[in-house]
Amino acid sequence: MTAQFETAVRGPEAYSLARNVIAEMEKAGVWPTPLNFELWMHYLGDPEGPLGREIRRLLAESIVISDQTSEMLAAEFLPRGRLSEEIRDAGAVLDRELASVASAIAKAHKTQADYGETLADASQTMEATEDASTLKSLVGGLSSATKRVRRETAILEKRLESSNKEVARLREHLEQVRRDAMTDALTNLANRKAFDERLEQVCAARDHAPLTLAILDIDHFKRFNDTWGHQTGDQVLRYVSTILSRVCSGNRFVARFGGEEFAIIFPGENTGAVTAALENIREEVSSRSLRRRSTNDDLGAVTISAGFAEHLPGETASALLERADAALYASKRGGRNCVTSAPMLEKAA
Ligand code: GH3
Ligand code: MG
Ligand code: MG
Repeated sequence: MTAQFETAVRGPEAYSLARNVIAEMEKAGVWPTPLNFELWMHYLGDPEGPLGREIRRLLAESIVISDQTSEMLAAEFLPRGRLSEEIRDAGAVLDRELASVASAIAKAHKTQADYGETLADASQTMEATEDASTLKSLVGGLSSATKRVRRETAILEKRLESSNKEVARLREHLEQVRRDAMTDALTNLANRKAFDERLEQVCAARDHAPLTLAILDIDHFKRFNDTWGHQTGDQVLRYVSTILSRVCSGNRFVARFGGEEFAIIFPGENTGAVTAALENIREEVSSRSLRRRSTNDDLGAVTISAGFAEHLPGETASALLERADAALYASKRGGRNCVTSAPMLEKAA
């Protein structure tokens, strides 16, 4: 949350901001869902911030802000708030579990200590007496003390078992939250955040094996959206993603890099294998004439352009990205629907 936003929602103008939010959402044709309200509060609370700029861009391009788009905006621009809520909830559950296990352990501990005392007393009494009835009542006392210990132990075991289950459930839930935070909602591919992390990691850890980064971009996608609508455009994004996922099994890492751009990391593959994979993707994408699901209209074929660069020893992730991007740009300039490799001049030097 920016300081500007914090001031806007807690300052004297807060209520007029909220009213304005509703009016602006209505004007933009956006449903007043809680998530949209949150996004619009941030947007109007800090109109020049990154979220504000992105929403204005979408509105200027008449892109319909669907629930999916809102989720994407939230994931990209409100990530910490949403994630930390989940983590806070998980933390509260863990606190409760730990407190309850701790109290069960303390109780069992006390029972064990009492039992120890009972045994010590009994042993003393036994030494001091030979009277059968005293011994009998002693054994009776010991027997009920033993039962008490057994009962407490059983309670403790049950408590631990249910606590284990709850912690396992929590772990699974947090794992799901983590996966969601790394996944693009529309295409189910890894998102930009996951990609940035992975690229940094592979560039830093690179040994002698080759490492290649490719960026792919759908050609004239704006025109496609303008002609067939944003929803049909989304269908195309999913279509391309399906092909990418299939080709990128194994060690290859594919992500949605931005709007209609994708990125693939190829660890340990030579240029020949990378070129073949990218050509394969390019040909497959353009090989089908697409149909609009709702109306069965023939949409024709879409094409993609790609650029790739092989990582140079010591090169940073952003320098590698820049070279792959320049290669993609060369594909666009060269007429699109093609694959271009970044020059290897730096490597030869
Ligand atoms: P080029 O061949 O040079 O790449 O042209 P282009 O039209 O594909 O590129 P441009 O960058 O001009 O437009 C990209 C378009 O992608 C603009 C935007 O409307 C669209 N877009 C971005 N994200 C989404 C999305 O999530 N869904 C849909 N349907 N369209 C999107
Ligand atoms: Mg683009
Ligand atoms: Mg494009």
